[in-house]
Amino acid sequence: MSGTALPPVHGHADVRATLASAAVAGSLAQSILLHGPAGIGKERLALWIAQLVVCQAPTAAGGCGECQPCRMALKLEHPDVHWFFPLPRPDASQPEKLREKLEEARYAELSARRTDPFHVPAYEKPPAYFLGTIQNLQKLAGMRPAMGSRKVFVVGDAELMVPQESSQEAANAFLKLLEEPPADTTLVLTASSPGALLPTIRSRVLPVRLLPLAADDVQAFLVNERGMAADEARALAGISRGAIGRALRLAPQGGGAGVLAKRREAGKSLLFAALAESPSMRFAAAHGVPPAGARGEFTDNLEALAEWLRDLLAVAAGAPDQVAYTGEARLLEKMLERRPVRPEGVARSIMRVQEAQELAAGNVNPQLIVSTLLRGIRTDLVG
Ligand SMILES: [Zn+2]
Repeated sequence: MSGTALPPVHGHADVRATLASAAVAGSLAQSILLHGPAGIGKERLALWIAQLVVCQAPTAAGGCGECQPCRMALKLEHPDVHWFFPLPRPDASQPEKLREKLEEARYAELSARRTDPFHVPAYEKPPAYFLGTIQNLQKLAGMRPAMGSRKVFVVGDAELMVPQESSQEAANAFLKLLEEPPADTTLVLTASSPGALLPTIRSRVLPVRLLPLAADDVQAFLVNERGMAADEARALAGISRGAIGRALRLAPQGGGAGVLAKRREAGKSLLFAALAESPSMRFAAAHGVPPAGARGEFTDNLEALAEWLRDLLAVAAGAPDQVAYTGEARLLEKMLERRPVRPEGVARSIMRVQEAQELAAGNVNPQLIVSTLLRGIRTDLVG
């Protein structure tokens, strides 16, 4: 099977330049931790490092992309590039059987990612690292490389190695590997919250901090890799906070820029209702929300409200060029002239929206969520 190539890496140019020069000089660290916000392409960059390591002719720009190891790495088919990620616990009682099933599940997921690099798995149980996973990794690390002179392990979401007591042993087993990795092995970990990693793990890796991408990078990705129209891509990039993953999550399933505009309007109505003099506006806004169902749309509208609040904060702070939708900065300025708000209240309101989104994911009545939220925002902003 030929498989779909991984999409090109977007952004992180400085980090890539540093890592590539180190590789060319033969001084690339053996264990690396890429950390930074979710959705900014940490695992893609980890796979880029893996390609750099197995490439036969690396340059200051990275893996050559032409040699056979590069081409295989790009297709996720290189036998010495091992990609690990958290998986749900398979049903198996015996440890040996569990290990086998974990490896089968990993291969199934890898095969799905080869076909569609944007594949998002829908797991019924929370994914994690289990002792069996790390034992499988250790076994591969103990073997000689199949093709070249080195093997690389990409360990995504490494902070999930210690979410609860049950996988503490997985973290400890992994620590053993990090203490004495085989000389021909490179380990690349990624984590969104490196603070959740065991300090003993953190101290054995070279930490590389990744920053959110520039909006232009996100836009270019959406246009080039997802075939999105430029206006829709620009709108999404503006609210992505530099994370391609977030932009993809917020992208409407069909409907394009029209759906985004509708969402944006819904967020605006919520903001204006929160700021209205009359409580009846807030009452009406809460009752406009369907009491059940359409939860996806509801959380999207809350997200749009958060974007309006962020833009409001930008305008209140005298930075109207920072708003996601520059065309609407003037509207917010006029609103603030009529009714000044407390900037510190805006930040608190944004947190309120995030809490409301968490509630919305649970089983709380959306009308109740909105009515409480709008009252809270009003208190934050105008007292
Ligand atoms: Zn190459």
